[in-house]
This record gives sequence, C-alpha cells and structure tokens, in this order.
Amino acid sequence: MQDIQTILDKETLEFNDIVILLKTEGEEQKMLFKKAQDIQLNYVGKKVFYRGLVEFSNVCSKNCLYCGIRKDNKDVERYNLEDEHVIEAAKFAHENNYASMVLQAGERSDEHFIERVDLLLKRIKKETNGELGITISLGEQSEETYKKWFESGAHRYLLRIESSNKVLYNQIHPNNDEHDFESRLSCLKNLKKVGYQTGTGVMVGLPWQTFEDLARDILFMKDFDIDMCGMGPYIEHQDTPLYEHRNVLWPIKTRFSVTLNMIAILRIVMKDINIAAATALQAIDPMGREKALRIGANVIMPNITPTLHRKDYQLYENKPCTDEGAEDCGNCLSMRIELADREVGLGEWGDSKHFANRNK
Ligand code: SAM
Ligand code: SF4
Repeated sequence: MQDIQTILDKETLEFNDIVILLKTEGEEQKMLFKKAQDIQLNYVGKKVFYRGLVEFSNVCSKNCLYCGIRKDNKDVERYNLEDEHVIEAAKFAHENNYASMVLQAGERSDEHFIERVDLLLKRIKKETNGELGITISLGEQSEETYKKWFESGAHRYLLRIESSNKVLYNQIHPNNDEHDFESRLSCLKNLKKVGYQTGTGVMVGLPWQTFEDLARDILFMKDFDIDMCGMGPYIEHQDTPLYEHRNVLWPIKTRFSVTLNMIAILRIVMKDINIAAATALQAIDPMGREKALRIGANVIMPNITPTLHRKDYQLYENKPCTDEGAEDCGNCLSMRIELADREVGLGEWGDSKHFANRNK
C-alpha cells in the first residue's frame, strides 16, 4: 500500500487514492486532517459562516426510506410554522448578524406551497432590506419553480444527491417516479442553469454503502463542479423502513470518523467550496461539528426554528438542540467555534468562493 504522505503530496487525487484516504484512522488520519486544515486555511481561511436554519414544516409528500418525517410515518405530529414566525426567525438572524438563513422543509410541489415560499422569500428580503442571504433546501422542483424562487431572492440551493451510486440510491428510496435518480440529477443541473450557488452532499454510512461508493461520491461532486456541500452521517430512525437493515450498518463511531474523512478529502479535492458542518455530526459526538470545522468545514447552520416545533423535525434519533431557543444556540455556537480555533464571519454572506471563481 502506498505511503499516506506520498498520496497527500500528489497534485490530483485519483479514485484509488481516495479509497485509501477514506480508510485512514489514528496517525494516518491525523496526516489527512493536517493536509485538509492547511488547504482550508490557505483557500478559505479561518472564517466560519452562519446560516440560521428554519425548518418551517415537516409535511412531506415523499417517502425516502431513511427519513423520520417521510409521508407514511404516522407517528409524526405534522406542523407548518405561521408565516409570521418564519419572518420573526429571519429578523432574528438579521439582527444577530448571521447574514444568511436556510429555509428547509419536507418536500412539496403543490401550487399553494410554491406560492407560499415565493411570498416568504419576497417578505424576508423586504423586511431585512435585502441584506439577509437566503439558501433554500426544498427538494426536487420544476425548473420554472427554481427560477421563480431565484428571482424572488433565494440565491443558494441545497439538494443532496444522497448517494451518487444509482443502485444504492434505488435501495434507499421507494421504486417509483417520485423518487427517481435521474430526476434528482436533472434537478441539480437545473439549479446550476438557473444561477444558484448549488450545493449537494451525501449521507455517510448508509446500509450497503462501500468506501468505493464514497470515493465516487467525492469524484461526482468534483465532476459536477458543485459550489457547496453538506454531508453527514446516516443515523437510523426506528420508524423508517431502512431501520430493519441496521444490522449491516457500520458502528456509529465509524460513520462519524468516515464522515470527517469525507469532509477532509473533499476540502483537498475542492479547495474553495463551502462545506457545512452537519448537525448530524453533533448527534454522535458533542464536539462533532467543531471537529469538522477544524478539518475543512467552514459553514455552520445554527437552528433558529421556534423551539416549540423542533422536536417534530426528527429526521433521525437523538437530533441535538431540539429544546434550546435560538439565542442559546447562537451563544453556545460562537463559543464552540472559538474553541475550534475558528472565527465567526458575522455580518458577511460568506458566499462560495468557488462560485465566484468559476463565474469570473
Ligand atoms: N426535503 C428536503 C430534501 O429532501 O432535500 C429537505 C429536507 S431533508 C430532511 C434534508 C436532508 O436530511 C436530506 O437530504 C437527507 O440527506 C437528510 N436526512 C434525512 N434522513 C436522515 C437520516 N436518517 N440520517 C441522516 N440524514 C438524514
Ligand atoms: Fe421528505 Fe426530504 Fe425526508 Fe425525503 S429526505 S422524506 S424529501 S423530508
């Protein structure tokens, strides 16, 4: 096997190199992290940008086999925040200098929903003097809808590919037109075409997923030339169909460690993109997100959803901070970021440098 340092010194990482790096532990993993850290500091610096996250509804028309708020889970109490509460949260983000927010929800593509999001975007822009940057994460929509929302003020979009291996994608989704791999790919292409800073990502440690799959995920993101990435460990939820396959899962600590390796490798491969430290990391390790910030991640999404409904947005078990108010969340985070030897980029949108560079 090749020496890890020899691999890390290469100009370009090939598939086999990535597989080897993904498997690193102990001292070898530290070498990987050191390299990713150097690249992070050189290309995106010490700054970490906030995106105040509002999970405004858990109503979903889809049935992804891994997700706790899938349509067929009847044990979920469904909610839809009042528009006023969404606007309040946006104002909170603005007043606290978060500079950006993320609007996320279950997926819906009915006319009512499309119009509602459109109005929310326009209102948020108006009430914050156009100063609050908006990322949305509302799943698969038509190109027309993506355009409409873009024109109303959203300028970044997160749509995870979940896995770039079509066979695995089909294993973790129902087999029907609503959950079609090709449609997801074409949505990602449309997002770029419309002009969004486009983000994608995968879950790490899914049942049947291999190191080779994950290496291909990294190369998929590189080939697709994404601007942002959000990826986190897969965490099982007992009220989902995938739960019955929990016996084939990697131990939770392995999923955590391999997620950090994914983040570090992606930072090495795509030097100037934005990478989010996913909340799911913190569900496994109380310092999970801070660890990610030290080895490549530069975006964090403090949850600013009104506390009352946080417990109902349970995608997976042990989701953290479901009982803390937005202010507690913010204070706790800035402390954590300083502990990770990073600085909060308050008041700055912190757009993807990669997006700016590829549109020069
Ligand atoms: N409905 C939109 C969508 O699917 O893009 C946005 C919300 S969805 C809950 C956001 C992300 O949560 C998904 O892309 C998926 O990767 C992640 N997720 C869902 N269930 C999960 C689980 N059990 N463990 C880890 N992440 C999960
Ligand atoms: Fe709905 Fe998104 Fe969960 Fe799929 S991952 S069931 S689209 S909320």
